[in-house]
Amino acid sequence: MRIPIIAGNWKMFKTKGEATTFVESIKAAVSGTEVEIVLCAPFTLLDTLREAVLGTNIKIAAQNMHWEEQGAFTGEISPLMLKEIAVDYCIIGHSERRQYFNETDETVNKKVLSALAHGILPIMCVGETLEQRENGETEKLVRTQVINGLKGVDGKQIKSVVLAYEPIWAIGTGKTATAQQANEVIYGIREVLKELYGEELHTEIRIQYGGSVKPGNIEEIMNQEDIDGVLVGGASLNPDDFVQLVNF
Ligand code: PGA
Repeated sequence: MRIPIIAGNWKMFKTKGEATTFVESIKAAVSGTEVEIVLCAPFTLLDTLREAVLGTNIKIAAQNMHWEEQGAFTGEISPLMLKEIAVDYCIIGHSERRQYFNETDETVNKKVLSALAHGILPIMCVGETLEQRENGETEKLVRTQVINGLKGVDGKQIKSVVLAYEPIWAIGTGKTATAQQANEVIYGIREVLKELYGEELHTEIRIQYGGSVKPGNIEEIMNQEDIDGVLVGGASLNPDDFVQLVNF
């Protein structure tokens, strides 16, 4: 049984005060739900959020990390630093990081392995551009991203990984992949996982969809057989919308 995971990706939004107010205003309305709730926040908010979510069913995530524990990497944050704040998850390889900060499958893989080694659960993102989709390259590309990103992740570790399929053309554009389009690619990812980890294990791995998810379309997306959750940007910034997403 895969527990649905509803994650809000705040990207580069919110101050500490706003983050605390957000948690205060949602915590009662999301308590008792059967889904896993995760807030993925900028580094500067994580400590504050850790305190704010104490005693709630809300988990917290970073949006990126370096793979080394320490070193001369100006501007980077290490897994040890995240562990100190007891973050539950870390988004790895979000398309915005791949697009604007030159992340590659290779760095994504290093980060996934490092997160797992430090007890941080990775949410590994994959997805195609519009051009790649129009050229019919989606399946091959996503397959490559999954295989390369998970290199060296063994059968025991894979259960701790969440995958997120986020077609780049659907992120922040208001264009959602149809629930069927999303499910088709996610089904394909599951087939790859089956090849990599076998008949039984692959059924335990959760795969989210992300890209313009909002209260109005979440139900249809979550009704798809292979989709186990959502990674939501824009609509996760507003507490009322987020509560609706969690209680889809
Ligand atoms: P969006 O972003 O919901 O604003 O499209 C999703 C994401 O980038 O994770």
